[in-house]
Amino acid sequence: MIEEPDMIQRSAGELLKGLNDRQAEAVRYQGPALLIGAGAGSGKTRVLTRRIAWILSQFGAWPSQILAITFTNKAASEMRERLGGLIGPVAERMWVSTFHSACVRILRRDGKAIGLRSGFSIYDTADSERLIKLIGRDLNIDLKRYTPRNILSHISDYKNNLQGWQTQLAEYAPDYRPGERGQQIAARFGNEEELYSVLYAEYEHRLAMANAVDFDDLIVRTVELLQKAPLVAQYYHRRFRYILVDEYQDTNHAQYVLMRELAGVGKGQADSGEGSATRAESRGEQADRPVGNSTVFAAGREGPAWITVVGDSDQSIYAFRGADIGNIRDFEKDFPGARTILLEQNYRSTQTILDAANAIIVKNEGRKPKKLWTALGKGEPIVGYAADNAQQEAAWIATEIARLRSEEDTPYSDMAIMYRANAQSRAVEEALINAGLPYQLVGGTRFYERREIKDALAYLHAIANPEDDVNMRRILNVPKRGLGDRAEAAASSYADLHGTSFWSGVEHVDEVAGVSTLTSKKMAVFRDLIRSLTAFGSEHDAKPSEIVAEVLEESGMLAELRKSTDPQDASRVENLSQLQSVAAEFEQKTPDASLAGFLETTALVADSDQLPGSGDDTGKVTLMTLHTAKGLEYPVVFLTGMEQGTFPHSRSLDDASELQEERRLAYVGVTRAKRRLYMTRAAVRAQWGQANEMLPSQFLDDIPDDLIDWKRKEAGFERMRGRWGLDDDDEFGGFEDGGDEDSFGGHAFGGSGFGSGSSRSTSRSRTGGGRSLGSSRRSYGSSGYGSHRGGGAWSSGGSSSRSGRVTTRRSTGGSAGGQGTNKAAAQPKSSGLSIRDFSLGDRVAHDQYGLGKVVDIQDKGHNSVLTVDFGSEGTKRLMLRLAPIEKL
Ligand code: ATP
Ligand code: MG
Repeated sequence: MIEEPDMIQRSAGELLKGLNDRQAEAVRYQGPALLIGAGAGSGKTRVLTRRIAWILSQFGAWPSQILAITFTNKAASEMRERLGGLIGPVAERMWVSTFHSACVRILRRDGKAIGLRSGFSIYDTADSERLIKLIGRDLNIDLKRYTPRNILSHISDYKNNLQGWQTQLAEYAPDYRPGERGQQIAARFGNEEELYSVLYAEYEHRLAMANAVDFDDLIVRTVELLQKAPLVAQYYHRRFRYILVDEYQDTNHAQYVLMRELAGVGKGQADSGEGSATRAESRGEQADRPVGNSTVFAAGREGPAWITVVGDSDQSIYAFRGADIGNIRDFEKDFPGARTILLEQNYRSTQTILDAANAIIVKNEGRKPKKLWTALGKGEPIVGYAADNAQQEAAWIATEIARLRSEEDTPYSDMAIMYRANAQSRAVEEALINAGLPYQLVGGTRFYERREIKDALAYLHAIANPEDDVNMRRILNVPKRGLGDRAEAAASSYADLHGTSFWSGVEHVDEVAGVSTLTSKKMAVFRDLIRSLTAFGSEHDAKPSEIVAEVLEESGMLAELRKSTDPQDASRVENLSQLQSVAAEFEQKTPDASLAGFLETTALVADSDQLPGSGDDTGKVTLMTLHTAKGLEYPVVFLTGMEQGTFPHSRSLDDASELQEERRLAYVGVTRAKRRLYMTRAAVRAQWGQANEMLPSQFLDDIPDDLIDWKRKEAGFERMRGRWGLDDDDEFGGFEDGGDEDSFGGHAFGGSGFGSGSSRSTSRSRTGGGRSLGSSRRSYGSSGYGSHRGGGAWSSGGSSSRSGRVTTRRSTGGSAGGQGTNKAAAQPKSSGLSIRDFSLGDRVAHDQYGLGKVVDIQDKGHNSVLTVDFGSEGTKRLMLRLAPIEKL
């Protein structure tokens, strides 16, 4: 173990400076388990950081006794930086990392106790998908029906819940023997549990053969290690005396168990140390004076590690990755003697922003009410904007950003645009490019997911671990060297026969019957290449950048790309040079750099790691998904796509628990803003190649009217409808008759409108369900205005767009009928009812949902909404003017 420095000297006063009383109490708390539960922006992360410094300087702990867990690598490096400011350079040596990174370190050190050899590979999602494809092919599985992604998500669920493959297999497919070829399973699949259990077992088997783990395994295998190897567990119990976890609300079951195992909670030692909060707290009275290197708090203390977790159950947004909100809700039950401290003052946002966030989140059931307040004052109202379509929404945002920059001197880097799904970024990007505004995209096709980067990394993985079958196979014919499927099959048949790795198949391919001399010659060239690269790799292990350079040159990858005339290949070359820079940077930052170390960092970069560190003035607007935005803050935030079906996501509209998660996501989004919040929506959005009319997001309805200053409340055609009191049957005709450009704000709704002539029937097609807010959107098929694939027709005004659309319509009109878009030949009649005809408790009949009772009425003029309880069909929000209902 490294020599420990003397106790870190920082006065208590220094560490409590600038904290409110509650925050200070949390920083100083002495006891086995502490939950800092609080709303967004209340200083949770700040308190956690100070508490670490406090533990070091006031409890006299050594840096090596602390394990601090953050949600992303970026958050970890930010925290390390802040700690550096508080306690100096020792912060660099502390374990401040994500769960995954901590597990990599543990498994590298001690994984051999559970059969992991050092130098194991870490598969990312794309690697795992390739492996599933290989297995699927061998087992004759219909991968169109069961996509690799879908299979992996089942496997991931098992893992996140710590359900081992052995148990699954024993229960659902006891006859299956992983690794044994030629088992006829395709025929026997009676149920899906059986299918997934077999795939899970086979997948684990092949990972083990390849000496590899996937992302979820990092956690699962570490838990296994701690549970199966008592000496290893003991080492970590002695070592980590303080465990601190940020964003605890997004931990999953496996991570929860991991934390307990690391801390040694429930190991029968609970009362050998300070088992109860009362005892610990009584000591808290002395907290103001340094406890010095008292053995009570540091080295000599027995019993479980002290745990501090920080989180906000309203910000739990990773259920789809197994996050279990119960972990935070049950903290006090799970850790007897735990103490909860609530923080209520928000230091980030204005009162208006907080009020909006609160108005959204209070609609969630079963949550503990929280009151967040701020001393920052009311601030500016939220700015709302309803655009005709996604292009116009983006263009308006670009204009507003340019205005904020020029009129209010807001730096670009103070502004962020957030959206629910990655695909929404394209329109925004286009608008920013057109307006000449600098931006950076976080997420999207990530650097490490680009093909050429994955190829280069596959070489590095294969060099570091030749038994890594997936990566070895990947590079066999990259760049093309005449080693196609047959050559691959030959090597792999050798491997199957002898139960060895694919690489050994490559080495012995001459022994396989029927291999041509040509294949065998080419295979020899590949073999020599890998051997020479491997030799180079071990000679230059401390210089990953040189290994990258060697691989790119010697493999022929660069030569192939340089030869190409495809402009995309030029940018691929640039990306590869980037990779070399990444490696060089890694060498400079890492004292004991190695190839394996470099591969680890590349495998662990998460979306948000692409964000520049604090202090970098990038002078760029940031674009990202709401999920990526967690924990971050910006003075100006644009929340876009505020539409039913976009946000909340269409998947969630009929599912109460998914809708709750969307609401938490909305709460996260709103609370990212410090000073100014914009909320925009598009009345029409293209999805799956079709233009759909989108209704305003219910989250907009949740926010009190007086908090939003609508720059434009309704899109052009929505306004027209309202003005003429058109009912549903008239709307398209109305456009035909009266559609002069001016009425539509100069946008592309020309006189020939969307729905004259032959396209009318298709443009009016819809399904019954499509008419309720429950499923959010109406589909206009591929003719009429649905076919503007280029998108340009919408955002440019005037006659050119009109003629453009007419052309498009003509060109696609014929196919529309054939695509089932006008199936709804029986067009439901609009009710023609007014919202004033309704009172609570009225009975209605709906074409699709049947009989229901009115439980809520929102009079919003043309956009009035009824909420109706349809019993077993659920409670639906219906826009009166669209809903096929009758009042009984
Ligand atoms: P989130 O829920 O979004 O993760 P959080 O609770 O972790 O938020 P922080 O990011 O720690 O909150 O703090 C929010 C902002 O408030 C930061 O800019 C932080 O510096 C500031 N802040 C926190 N506490 C104080 C304080 N006592 N005085 C002044 N500023 C503070
Ligand atoms: Mg935080």
